[in-house]
Amino acid sequence: MKLEGRKAIVTGGSRGIGKAVALMFAKEGADVLVNYHSNDAAARETVAEIEKLGRRGIAVAADVADYKSAQNMVDECVKQLGGVDIVVNNAGVSKPSMLLKMPEADWDYIINVHLKAAFNTTQAAGRYMKEKNYGKIINVISTAGIFGTIGQINYASAKAGIIGFTKSASRELGRYNINVNVICPGITKTEMTGKLQSDEKLRKIYEGRIQLGRFGEPEEIAPAFVFLASDDASYITGQVLGVDGGYIG
Ligand code: NAP
Repeated sequence: MKLEGRKAIVTGGSRGIGKAVALMFAKEGADVLVNYHSNDAAARETVAEIEKLGRRGIAVAADVADYKSAQNMVDECVKQLGGVDIVVNNAGVSKPSMLLKMPEADWDYIINVHLKAAFNTTQAAGRYMKEKNYGKIINVISTAGIFGTIGQINYASAKAGIIGFTKSASRELGRYNINVNVICPGITKTEMTGKLQSDEKLRKIYEGRIQLGRFGEPEEIAPAFVFLASDDASYITGQVLGVDGGYIG
């Protein structure tokens, strides 16, 4: 097992990509804090599946965009699971609209849930990790943050910002043996991409932008997280790893 005895936080770990990551971490021997925002039932179900794998799971509701909530969540992991070795900043939402029509509140909301959240949790967990001289932080972006997009400038900007955040954090935290990397999933079959999956015309357009010609399953994205969270990736930091079927923008 690659993560034996590790304590991991997966934000937005109750559904979609985060759930697949939380379960794969548990299969590899980690205890997992499953963070979520409001869907208690999904979080409880994920925790039950973690426990069936013989690991400890705890569900913690916290708005990662909120500084205090995110910091309390990290404290809770240390209190209940006995430490924090791995943080996956995965929680996410989208609020599409065109730049010229975008309400200010939608800009702030998306920047906070993605970019500010990465700051909130990385700062809190980084302080514990520094003490242990060990840690793995994995942030999540999107091809929108690399290629840009029409109709989601808030989301693309937040994701692009996370690349800069990661590269700077990796420079500051490397001296404490903390690796900080980014995973860029391609279009993945989760609730977030429901419309892309169900709208035949849209689906064909987007599939045409992917070298493998299809959307990914959450279980095809998760193994890259195990790799970066494990000591197989001990000499990798400040990198962006695409797991996107060959997305060509
Ligand atoms: P999803 O299935 O819609 O799940 C979103 C998760 O985030 C849920 O667990 C949700 O909790 C949680 N969440 C939302 N807002 C939150 C907040 N303020 N605080 C804490 N948790 C919050 O999403 P997904 O498709 O798996 O996406 C996961 C990540 O991958 C996101 O960062 C997304 O931008 C990125 N991504 C996704 C795709 C894709 O094609 N799906 C592609 C590239 C990147 P509740 O259940 O309580 O709402």
